[in-house]
Amino acid sequence: MRARSCDESGVTGRRVRVAAISVLVIAAGCGDGEGAGDAASARDASRETEDAPGLDAPGIDATTPSDDAPGLDAPASDARAALDAPRASDDAGAGSDAGPTPTTILEPAPGEVTILQIDLPVGLVPQLGEAAILVGPDGTMVLMDVGNSGHDDDVRAIVEELNTRWITPARGFPRARGRREVDWIVVSHFHSDHIGGFQDLLTGGSAVDVTRGVVHRGLVDVGAGVTESDYVAMCDLLTGTLSHLDVRLCAGASAGACSVSAATNPATACDGLFVGELGEPSDDAAHAPSYLDLGGGARMEFLGADGWMSDGTHATALPFGTTDSNEENARSLVTLVKHGSFRYHWGGDLTGSGDPGQPDVESHLATIAGAAYYGPLGMDVIHAHHHVRRTSSNATFVDLTAPMDGRDRNVIGGVNGAYLGSPYAEVLGRWADGARLGEGGIWLTDSATGGASHASLVVAGAAVIVQTTGGGTGYWVQAASDTPTTRGFRTVR
Ligand SMILES: [Zn+2]
Repeated sequence: MRARSCDESGVTGRRVRVAAISVLVIAAGCGDGEGAGDAASARDASRETEDAPGLDAPGIDATTPSDDAPGLDAPASDARAALDAPRASDDAGAGSDAGPTPTTILEPAPGEVTILQIDLPVGLVPQLGEAAILVGPDGTMVLMDVGNSGHDDDVRAIVEELNTRWITPARGFPRARGRREVDWIVVSHFHSDHIGGFQDLLTGGSAVDVTRGVVHRGLVDVGAGVTESDYVAMCDLLTGTLSHLDVRLCAGASAGACSVSAATNPATACDGLFVGELGEPSDDAAHAPSYLDLGGGARMEFLGADGWMSDGTHATALPFGTTDSNEENARSLVTLVKHGSFRYHWGGDLTGSGDPGQPDVESHLATIAGAAYYGPLGMDVIHAHHHVRRTSSNATFVDLTAPMDGRDRNVIGGVNGAYLGSPYAEVLGRWADGARLGEGGIWLTDSATGGASHASLVVAGAAVIVQTTGGGTGYWVQAASDTPTTRGFRTVR
């Protein structure tokens, strides 16, 4: 389905250096191509050559009222104070005074979790792509997807900058890191906009050096829209020279060698969701929920893969229907990042229906994992699934992660100009209508032609950075543009 021309462009986006970070700036547009419903837009997108500048300015202007981080320091108003009153632990917020709102790009800080949602360039030959980099309290680095073919140089450049300039002993981290050292890669699913850069990033003279593992759902149940060459390249590495890094959460019958057709059998079990720390074999037999140790007490927990969702003790499969059984997005991993009282949800391109044939995995997640992992308070920051397209963020999932309780929450999303139509108006409305997010907002790396607007929308045109404060008692959200927009919040717990 995907036009290979989208995968063959070099790195053509302009890069603007801001402080110590390379902020990637959109140059052109491409198509989605992630599902049957997006095929037309993918074809249309290949003809797009604009950068949709008009979509950016209103969003930023409407939502950046020179905020001074009221969530961290003090109630901004009487109304805010009233909302704060019933909180279980107000002192958590009070203890998270992180000082004045930063006016420069947030740099990873020892003791804190920093998540950089990267703004990947569209390129002259338009190309989709999403990737994020998490830096844990001790400098542990996790790539969350790696973008498309041609995005490897962009991801590699930021990895190098993090390792050589930010995550250093001089800045309080425990040790110097290798120039291209990465601890973990977590692959949400196998569409090219998430794994297309895998082979080029991990091979050759400037390959990143993954030291712990590559976590994915397993080579099973591969669905529609997966590009054969990208899948085979990743599979060949994980079953060959990088087999020592291969961490699979689910298993099922395989027809043999690496190919999409050999990996279409459904998962029969996802025991990898219950092996404790994923890099530590000695604790596997206890069958604790799986996680990555991010240092400093922070964790990335794995609670879903391939439609199987965990209630903390066992996983329950979603019975995919006969018409939707090939939908790849629905197989996305589901993870939570926890640091102190801070909670962050990431679920790749997970679907909540919204289009015919799209399985409603978001509601299944809420049913199975809601009580154990989300509770009545939900999350602080939610990664909106699937580039804020209409299959993302159904009403049940929004209620699960951001209940309408007056507390401040934030939504971030990975969009570049190639995702024509993103963000979708109905998705923005479900998140932000009725002041559901309190004083928080929706922060996107970019917006595409046809994308909707909303009073709560911030379009960065650059990376979106989330960083905890006070060891997870509060957090910043930043649009890391030339003149950064930064706001501070208390956690909801
Ligand atoms: Zn995607």
